[in-house]
Amino acid sequence: MTLRRWAAVTLAAIGCANAPAAPPRDSYDLRAAQRPYNVVVISMDAVRYDRTGLGPERHPWTPNLQRLAAESVVFHNASSAAPWTVPSHLAIWTGRWPSHHGVVNKLREDPSTRALVDAALPASVETFPELLVREGFVCAAFTGGAGVSARFGYGRGFHTYLDDRRFAGMDYSLPPAIAWLRAHASERFFLFLHGYDAHGQHPLDDVDPRAVAPDYRGPLDGSVAEQARYREQMLAAIEAPGDAASLRGALTADDGRFLRTVYDRKIEAADRRVGRFLDALRELGLLDRTLVVLLSDHGEEFLEHGALDHGHTLHEEQLHVPLLMRFPRAAGRRDVQAPVRTIDVFPTVFDALGLRGPASVDGQSLMPLVRGQPLDLNLYAETDYRLFVHHRMVRHGRWKLVLDLSDGQMQLFDLEADPGELRDRAADAPDALRPLQADLSRWMSTLATTPAAYRGRRDTPITVY
Ligand SMILES: [Zn+2]
Repeated sequence: MTLRRWAAVTLAAIGCANAPAAPPRDSYDLRAAQRPYNVVVISMDAVRYDRTGLGPERHPWTPNLQRLAAESVVFHNASSAAPWTVPSHLAIWTGRWPSHHGVVNKLREDPSTRALVDAALPASVETFPELLVREGFVCAAFTGGAGVSARFGYGRGFHTYLDDRRFAGMDYSLPPAIAWLRAHASERFFLFLHGYDAHGQHPLDDVDPRAVAPDYRGPLDGSVAEQARYREQMLAAIEAPGDAASLRGALTADDGRFLRTVYDRKIEAADRRVGRFLDALRELGLLDRTLVVLLSDHGEEFLEHGALDHGHTLHEEQLHVPLLMRFPRAAGRRDVQAPVRTIDVFPTVFDALGLRGPASVDGQSLMPLVRGQPLDLNLYAETDYRLFVHHRMVRHGRWKLVLDLSDGQMQLFDLEADPGELRDRAADAPDALRPLQADLSRWMSTLATTPAAYRGRRDTPITVY
């Protein structure tokens, strides 16, 4: 399949027929339970929806996701708030857009010294998990560290927070998570399991990447160091407003296919580990008293728009992620095609459990969709990835507008006619453009950052990041 053909099916996430009959609508209400429910959130870092078995191509390498999907509400059009780990996971944690929770990069400038210091959630911004702590949940996280390190604000109130490795996979975070489950099975808990198994900075386990693509004859070795090198090369090529992140000329379509094959094998490894965790929940008798959410924080590019890695655009290969919610009493599959946001995850969990969430949350409960009722949500996303790019996105149904804050350039895409986002319609579809422009301006006006605040920021000494 060509990249173009592949891209053409990326967003055609409709169908998934053959689902069993949907459970009764009221079976998702967990508030009246005699025994209170636990909450588990599993994050498979950097996993694209369309490279799992949930998408229209029904890839065979995620059998455990399929197994979970058979008992879950499957959101086929879930979009992350940002295309990289720190702002995206914190958006999930707070239910806020990144510019609203405030951690849009790993570092921030100290206003008094102008020195660059670690960014962290302001004390005034509450997270959903810290409210679970106050509700009496025992809270534990087993993560791959780096962008989900407790120090960014994730760890507030947690009784256990594993984050002592950088870019660790679930091969590292899973065993202690299962051991913890065994020790706390009788308590009411929230558990966060996370791993970078599919991430570009995590190697393919115990296998030479070239061995998984024996027909590949190009120069790449598929290593972590190589991907980091190309990512930095790509970013360094962004020199002036209007330049897009690009590796055109350095890599071929064959190279992109090779790297994507390696990525698919990493997703397969992550899926096996998720399966082991779900088996442990089942064996411990916890699955039927636990609300299980599985998601990813962003996707990954393999030259669909001329570059690699993630963080540098708001195209669908970086924003469209898997999202499953298994409700213990319902335990049947429901397929939801309506667009939703990952910032809606915790508001949904809290709504289902009858808990009050933090104040000033942008996300909203997806329970109407879970019950089979309509809910029309606009999607937004943003990236200021290491200050190399400053992009904002709004999407209403099929139409998606991306604004580059550094030069004001707009790109408009019709995702139905052009799911690969290869044809900019900004100049010839004014009727579609205008309402999106107005909504994007309105949305940005509600956030801390404005276009003016970012103009000229490429003069910032970016090499320190
Ligand atoms: Zn990530």
